[in-house]
Amino acid sequence: MRVLASAVAFTLAVAASSAPAQQLPVRRQAKPTRPAITAEDLMSRLYVYADDSLAGRASGTPQHDKATDIIAGWAKQIGLAPMGDSGTYFQAVPLLRRAWVTSPVVVGEQTFTYQKDYGVFAQWRTKPFDGGEVVFGGLIGDTSVHLTADQTTGKIVVFGYTPDMAAKGLQAQFTSALTKPVGAAKAIVLPMLDEAPAAVRGYFMQGEMVTVPSTGPAMIMPPVIVASNAMTQALVGAPLNFAKWGTVTGRYTGKIELRDTPTSSRNVVAVLEGSDPVLKHQYVALGSHSDHVGVQPGAVDHDSLRAYNLEVERVKATLGDGKTPTPAQLAAIKVNVDSIRVIRRPRLDSISNGADDDGSGTVAMAEIAEALAGAKARPRRSVLFVWHMGEEIGLVGSDWYTKHPTVPRDSIVAQLNMDMVGRGGAADVKGGGPTYLGLVGSRRLSTQLGDLIETVNKMQKAPFTFDYTYDAPGHPENIYCRSDHASYARFGIPVAFFSTGLHADYHTVTDEASYIDYPHMASVSQLVHDVTLSVANAAARPVVDKPKPSPNAVCRQ
Ligand SMILES: [Zn+2]
Repeated sequence: MRVLASAVAFTLAVAASSAPAQQLPVRRQAKPTRPAITAEDLMSRLYVYADDSLAGRASGTPQHDKATDIIAGWAKQIGLAPMGDSGTYFQAVPLLRRAWVTSPVVVGEQTFTYQKDYGVFAQWRTKPFDGGEVVFGGLIGDTSVHLTADQTTGKIVVFGYTPDMAAKGLQAQFTSALTKPVGAAKAIVLPMLDEAPAAVRGYFMQGEMVTVPSTGPAMIMPPVIVASNAMTQALVGAPLNFAKWGTVTGRYTGKIELRDTPTSSRNVVAVLEGSDPVLKHQYVALGSHSDHVGVQPGAVDHDSLRAYNLEVERVKATLGDGKTPTPAQLAAIKVNVDSIRVIRRPRLDSISNGADDDGSGTVAMAEIAEALAGAKARPRRSVLFVWHMGEEIGLVGSDWYTKHPTVPRDSIVAQLNMDMVGRGGAADVKGGGPTYLGLVGSRRLSTQLGDLIETVNKMQKAPFTFDYTYDAPGHPENIYCRSDHASYARFGIPVAFFSTGLHADYHTVTDEASYIDYPHMASVSQLVHDVTLSVANAAARPVVDKPKPSPNAVCRQ
């Protein structure tokens, strides 16, 4: 039986190509760390920080608070001075806990329930909703439909999609519905639930979420109900392809209310005070993010998912030019992966551990701090360490810190940001390997900063080959605007973003400590340590020789 044979061959192939030289354990006991930056110490810290017990460190959860306790414990142990609120290591960041309050939906004889037949999009505030008259809004994509605001005002508008519109995917379906005249509708119903992938279904059915208090005028929008085909058809009373748009088709009985309660999360902020009586009032800022995306709705088989994603990445790499595998290739990969299940029991997993994203940056900062604090000579300028919460929910922590800095903002001479510095192997990125490192933004405000980093790099034991691909103006990945350095750059603070790049485990349950390349991460940390020292000891702060953006402008790469 060949497939199995190829499956075994396939498994071995994956092991050979993807895993770091030595297969690392899933769990590992932490050992005491030493001042030097070592792979061993990074491992000790990361296995603790990316452990299942922290449940993926979603902002606003008790587990994320626990994760920030761990960081504060490290800062204290290293001897950093607290620079958060009222002499603590923590800076509170206000958040909102948004809870869904729903009731079953009754349509004639049928009853539909939340988290089974429908979910709710809750990114914005909504008026409490208690049902009402249903109007069919037509098939989105059908140009003959001319819905008017009169027809939708105070109604529950149910939409359908033409086949080609449906083929455009969820995002397009969603945004297209919101371009219709539904502003004064009581609610919008979209029949997308059945086709939605698990992660998206989970998003609409999370029951509660953490979001940021809106600063501008509160945007009150009609709730968007994402329903099964059965529920939409029952509401319209006919198959959507045959229903007449603009007609009232019946009643929706059911309640939805999104209740917001103030809550908070926290940045961890600490300082290593400089030795120079004057320059110590200037700061070199280091940044990373302490949060990740938490627990996924529904467990998956860890090993199969990883084997599948690795193979997809491998095929993509062979196809080149950003091409993606054909459905046939994906089906073949799936067949092979399924046959793995025959030879070993599934390892169910629902925790997105975020070992690389951004456990790596978080522990690298602790190692850098330990080395700087343990050195005979202190840097002349002070070093500010900010472990930001909320990067995954919209750069919330760095937005808050840079708007409410605990040191004078203009005394921050540069910000060095690390997000995902634990991979970058040949199987992860094009040109990957021990000296691969992505660098973004290093000359966007200060040519001097970019030059300084190149000079320091040349003095490394094994200098990096910097990948500036993602720094290109207008680059589609828009990395310059996608992590916490962007919050500093908008205030004209020269920044440099260090990352070993994306990989097959990105934002999945398989981003675990056992797949991290620790020697590589140690050399990245050593480079950032040396750059920090070089900026901190320089006679002058990096000169901003490029135009400063306006802080409120939308970030453009
Ligand atoms: Zn990240």
